[in-house]
Amino acid sequence: MGTIDGLPPLREVIRAHDLVAKKQLGQNFLLDLNLTAKIARSAGDLTGCDVLEVGPGPGGLTRGLLAEGARRVVAVEKDARCLPALAEIAAAYPGRLEVLHGDALDLDLARHLTAPVKIVANLPYNVGTELLIRWLSPPVWPPMWSSLTLMFQKEVAERIVAKPRGDHYGRLALLAQWRCNAAIVMTLPPEAFTPAPKVHSAVVHLTALPEPRFPCDFNVLQRVTAMAFNQRRKMLRSSLKALKPGIDAILEGVGIPPTARAEEIALEQFCALARAVQAA
Ligand code: SAM
Repeated sequence: MGTIDGLPPLREVIRAHDLVAKKQLGQNFLLDLNLTAKIARSAGDLTGCDVLEVGPGPGGLTRGLLAEGARRVVAVEKDARCLPALAEIAAAYPGRLEVLHGDALDLDLARHLTAPVKIVANLPYNVGTELLIRWLSPPVWPPMWSSLTLMFQKEVAERIVAKPRGDHYGRLALLAQWRCNAAIVMTLPPEAFTPAPKVHSAVVHLTALPEPRFPCDFNVLQRVTAMAFNQRRKMLRSSLKALKPGIDAILEGVGIPPTARAEEIALEQFCALARAVQAA
């Protein structure tokens, strides 16, 4: 059966290049080009944008991004076995696909991409959260990218968009929603992937706000939320005890009862607390 871009179907690509999935690289491939085009479309209009893709693998999503009109795709892949398959895509889209062989954790965005930039990826599960936190914490805001459209395990996606008092609410929700609008735009069953993972997955779309929702220092917010949620069922007066002497008074000063628990506290209150902790 033919494909819209004239390249072979992904099952053939995988067979031809012997791309047996490696678990340690988080390889769960998407082989349905209609689905990868749909994920690419959920990133919004790609024309005129550079797109960073982490982990292109055999290139299903890469092909979706190119077919949906991305000006240029920069795809960073750790597994050298995928490079010949990706070279075939680059040849079909001259000058529009740059493949970098390496670890996405080592990538300097500014060296390879020109604004406007969107990041779109079916992330390897083992480094997904770490990459998200890095993209959320550049020294200067707004960041180089305007949006992130990322596939995670559904449970991680729920942690990113969670609201106070929910089971998934925690540090990841606060860090993401402090500087971004975040929503789940698609959920996928295990069978959508080859091989099928044990869990469901979801695509989260985050758009960068021009400035953080409430003022405070990123590192202080990180520290406060990490400590507060480390023992999420404990009262804040005890989970934050080691943060600063006189934490009860600091909490009361920003209107948070010292007996409250982290999961009850909204983003605005955490930002007020981070400012007060820094000032104390
Ligand atoms: N994009 C492809 C798709 O949707 O079918 C593959 C997605 S698969 C979930 C994750 C991909 O990330 C694999 O190709 C894997 O080799 C690659 N990968 C794993 N760790 C990586 C890292 N640290 N840096 C770059 N790529 C990585």
